[in-house]
Amino acid sequence: MRLTRSSEDYLEAIYLLIQEKGYARPKDIAAHLSVTSPSVTDMVKRLTDEGLAVYERYGMVTLTPRGEKIARDMKTRHDTIAKMLRILLVPDEIARKDACEIEHNLDPATVEQFRNFVRFMECLPEEPRWVQNFKEYCRTGVAPKCKRMKG
Ligand code: MN
Repeated sequence: MRLTRSSEDYLEAIYLLIQEKGYARPKDIAAHLSVTSPSVTDMVKRLTDEGLAVYERYGMVTLTPRGEKIARDMKTRHDTIAKMLRILLVPDEIARKDACEIEHNLDPATVEQFRNFVRFMECLPEEPRWVQNFKEYCRTGVAPKCKRMKG
């Protein structure tokens, strides 16, 4: 099943709210996504019809196991892209915002390579030289000299 970008955003928002507070109230979902209450009602109904979300007592929203799996995958994709952008020294706030922009569109193969790269970087015992050089380059506009072997 192909989800719309908007459904993916809702699932992710509901998932994050449940993680944070233990439940997702429609008004919190609305605030999280900067949308109106009627929009939340419409979308949660659609997600319910698709078997991804459930209305609980007092109008709380939870996810079905299938909805939760999609939401968790979305969050992983988001976090991976945001980390990748941070490695490229994109400011934190922008990395988070742009991760949300592109998380819906990237091919899984691309995300997988982002993930491999991010994990590889996280495994390194110390900051590699090329990262230091890259920071220096971004800061000064001057690329450190190439060090060629003699001969
Ligand atoms: Mn996101």
